[in-house]
Amino acid sequence: MNQLVRPPEVEIHASACPHDCPSTCALEVEVLDGRAIGRVRGAEDNLYTAGVICAKVARYAERIHHPDRLLHPLIRKGPKGSGQFAPISWDDALDLVAEKFLVAEARYGSETVWPYYYAGTMGLIMRDGINRLRHVKRYSGFHSTICVNPAWTGFIAGTGKLAGPDPREMAKSDCVVIWGTNPVNTQVNVMTHAVRARKERGAKIVAVDIYMNGTMEAADLAVLVRPGTDGALACAVMHCLFRDGFADREYLEKYTDAPRELEEHVCTRSPEWASRITGCPVETIEEFAKLVAERKRTYFRLGYGFGRSRNGTANMHAASCIAAVRGSWALEGGGAFHNNGAIYHWNKSMTEGHDAIDPSIRMLDQSRIGPVLCGEPDALINGVPVTALLIQNTNPMSVAPEQDKVKRGFAREDLFTCVHEQFMTETAQMADVVLPATMFMEHDDFYQGGGHQYIQLGPKLIDPPGECRNNHEVVCALAKRLGASHPGFTMTERELIDWTLQNSGWGTLAVLEANKWIDCQPDFATAHYTKGFAWPDGKFRFKPDWKTVPFRSPWLVGPVDDMPVLPDHWEVIEEATPEHPFRLATSPARNFLNSTFNETPTSLAREHRPTVMIHPQDAAKLGIADGDKVILGNTRGEVRLHAKIFDGVRRGVLIAESIWPNSAYEDGRGINTLTGADAIAPYGGAAFHDNRVWVKRL
Ligand code: SF4
Repeated sequence: MNQLVRPPEVEIHASACPHDCPSTCALEVEVLDGRAIGRVRGAEDNLYTAGVICAKVARYAERIHHPDRLLHPLIRKGPKGSGQFAPISWDDALDLVAEKFLVAEARYGSETVWPYYYAGTMGLIMRDGINRLRHVKRYSGFHSTICVNPAWTGFIAGTGKLAGPDPREMAKSDCVVIWGTNPVNTQVNVMTHAVRARKERGAKIVAVDIYMNGTMEAADLAVLVRPGTDGALACAVMHCLFRDGFADREYLEKYTDAPRELEEHVCTRSPEWASRITGCPVETIEEFAKLVAERKRTYFRLGYGFGRSRNGTANMHAASCIAAVRGSWALEGGGAFHNNGAIYHWNKSMTEGHDAIDPSIRMLDQSRIGPVLCGEPDALINGVPVTALLIQNTNPMSVAPEQDKVKRGFAREDLFTCVHEQFMTETAQMADVVLPATMFMEHDDFYQGGGHQYIQLGPKLIDPPGECRNNHEVVCALAKRLGASHPGFTMTERELIDWTLQNSGWGTLAVLEANKWIDCQPDFATAHYTKGFAWPDGKFRFKPDWKTVPFRSPWLVGPVDDMPVLPDHWEVIEEATPEHPFRLATSPARNFLNSTFNETPTSLAREHRPTVMIHPQDAAKLGIADGDKVILGNTRGEVRLHAKIFDGVRRGVLIAESIWPNSAYEDGRGINTLTGADAIAPYGGAAFHDNRVWVKRL
């Protein structure tokens, strides 16, 4: 007998993408029968998202309703990392975590506990609330370096502030330069606005990158450089602008600190000089400079990628200087943009417990979790060992550099680890207690756009599966057991959102809920710095004082004294040597976002397997054929994966798109086995695209 199947009732709700991507897309989510997620689309009426999102989030139902979601708290029953766990009740699990933290604290002091988190969700409640617990309990501080520090510092070094022209102005530009980011893969909206400028105004799109990725293919001019040489390219472009009379001298005199010194300096930084460093032909550099010269209304969209080198801070600063030489900042559709972090002026005292900060408590470097857990004295700031971890929203076993040390550290028998996660990640597998976490459509949170200017609400749309609890619930439940007191622990998620909005000058939750988002775009003069840059004298800095760039860092690290005085190619990268003749970068794969989406079948199928791209002539010299198994190695370790012969890289450059789980490699050693945890000057960071290696056929 035919049975009539009732189609589900579909409601469309607004949300925001919580993932670690500057686009923070405004979403329209299908909710089926009030309990399941259907299709996810970009919100048409959000002027930045403009109806477009990436494929991996469009198929989010695959992730949120995945059969491998963690549903119940678990306690370890076998050796660390064995994957042997047994169910435990929430109360027993939280009691145990609290007891272990208290015992550790009694033995070593509060700094032995290290709350460790990152951007698995970018929600201001769910990502940052763990800081409230650490501040109140005086646990070791978390210096979050792994992503933004080099890029942000480099940008702020010039402008004085992390903000720039309205990203929607890309559509009003005559030339959009997409530098060190691959928006065809992620933060797709950059392409939306750049392509609109091309269609409506005949704008040119220039892409600068280290391999021929989707964005480079879509550009009118692809500028292919060796990793870590962007500073040389920027200097050569400025050389051409001065040489050919396209430097805006009036603008330079009024708005910049040292224009004549810069001109004299880049006089020797010719396209020929830059070509030798970057590997990019002189003609391409000249063509790039000519586009900027002829199209003053050029918008430089500067991404994070080229910050992930030991000279990444200096390179970001150098790239941002071109717009000042040309005077592009003064025009609508012109200038340089990296991130809008400075426009939101949050009061985070309730979400993060800033009122409870004790500045005498040590800060530990997130990127150096391997050396920290291995007990290296400098990583521990010569203090007590870390013997207890609470981890939310991150998967350091996979994503942190110097992976062999990370693994050794997590395997320590005297380390107690609690991981609150959505899936049994490789970090969760090393835990003593695993707690099941909600996903973004299962809790209330709010978000700020880095790549745009909206505050957005991401409300709870469906109930979580099993016994999943959100980060705020877990932090508050632990605080209660640990005797930590703060008003933020007694507030609901919605109360925290409302309080933060009100105390930051952004209205109320009710207003945000009614309007879905708040457009925080500063006026033209502020965004374009036409009344001066954000320094006391109002001048853009070609000569930054690297030691005083205003950035949230407790210390200076790396060879700060050797940083270039003026924009330059800084030879501090892991340059190739006869023993290690290749330079390896670990660029993001299209279907993963760090290690998120490692679990979804479509992402795994589309990425196929871990590979490394190698130039055909390099491969031929080494007897490597397409699909061959190869080993990459350096002083940090070895990694086995498959070769992909690809002529879209410079000779001597290898690209391993990432991040695959370690288990996808035949011996369980992931790509971060090869990356270094030494800190980038001046404020830290990990040089994921700056690794010298050898390669051979297996
Ligand atoms: S482009 Fe970025 S912000 Fe937009 S949906 Fe994809 S991951 Fe999320």
